[in-house]
Amino acid sequence: MVFKEEINTSLLAWYQKNKRILPWRKDKNPYHIWISEIMLQQTRIEAVIPYYERFMKRIPDVNALATINEDELLKLWEGLGYYNRARNLKKAAQIIMSEYQGVFPNTYEEIMRLPGIGEYTASAIASICFHEATPTIDGNVLRVYTRLKEDKRNIALNQTKKEIRKEISQIIPLEAGDFNEALMELGETICLPNGEPKCNMCPLSHICKAYQHQSWSKFPVKAEKRTKKELFYTVFLFYYQHQVAIRKRDDKGLLKNLWEFPNELGKMGVADVKKYLKQHQIHFSNVKKGINYKHVFTHQIWYMESYFIEVLETFDPFIWENLAKIKESYAIPSAFLPFLQEFKHKIN
Ligand code: SF4
Repeated sequence: MVFKEEINTSLLAWYQKNKRILPWRKDKNPYHIWISEIMLQQTRIEAVIPYYERFMKRIPDVNALATINEDELLKLWEGLGYYNRARNLKKAAQIIMSEYQGVFPNTYEEIMRLPGIGEYTASAIASICFHEATPTIDGNVLRVYTRLKEDKRNIALNQTKKEIRKEISQIIPLEAGDFNEALMELGETICLPNGEPKCNMCPLSHICKAYQHQSWSKFPVKAEKRTKKELFYTVFLFYYQHQVAIRKRDDKGLLKNLWEFPNELGKMGVADVKKYLKQHQIHFSNVKKGINYKHVFTHQIWYMESYFIEVLETFDPFIWENLAKIKESYAIPSAFLPFLQEFKHKIN
């Protein structure tokens, strides 16, 4: 009980004094909290702010999101990655329009049923906007909690997350939204993941076991991650005068429906590329080595080697556009953005 009272009093008082001013904290509108939470998955707060503001200007509410054209939506999302998140936003908005008459559902259970919304986001919306006592469990919260208690459970296991979720449910106060945000913010700004935590500024240091024993570097305990699949690609940077070739990816699988530079699975040297071009009857005047780039996805790593290829004419099945138009109108995923950047030096 002492732990419960101490954590609530100290944490909430600290949060009221120290909370950051963020655009989605101006009100407790569930649409604003929802969009910000989805954007914040895998992306830092500072990087999300301009995306959030641009998104809200163009798509200010659920109705606008339910009806936006998918290409435009993906373009607004460009650079945030994990594009299925954007597609799910639109699907969920359509459900809110058709099944809830445009009014955001107001319980954890109902919010959880929407596509793309997991426990964490549902808890954040339900607690911040509707005061439901549901804890948000993310890496920040797990780190703070396991350090406070010197808890040795493996946080990579779902079972551990479930148990900790249950334990935090028992200490969460009436101000559930502030409590959740405070714990997350403490993890982001004070109880840091890399490097030494700022314990001397922490409102919970008086009840923190890791602080008492200076053992913070041992927590949280995380099991080894499983290895990622490694794939090698050769990327063809075709250009004809000021136009470059792009194509739309399949409508299934990783990066579906996004735009990319033509590429083939496997490694090729200059001689292999020239052979490939001849086999495919692509008339070229010049082949030069471009940059190499490694892109890390959740379950895969792509090693990409590129070649600039000046061709003598445009050809199918690609779209040929100038760089300004590509930047403005096509959603290029971050795996291919370094090549777009390279092109700028090459042909501008
Ligand atoms: S005292 Fe230090 S280790 Fe403990 S919760 Fe605060 S910042 Fe983290």
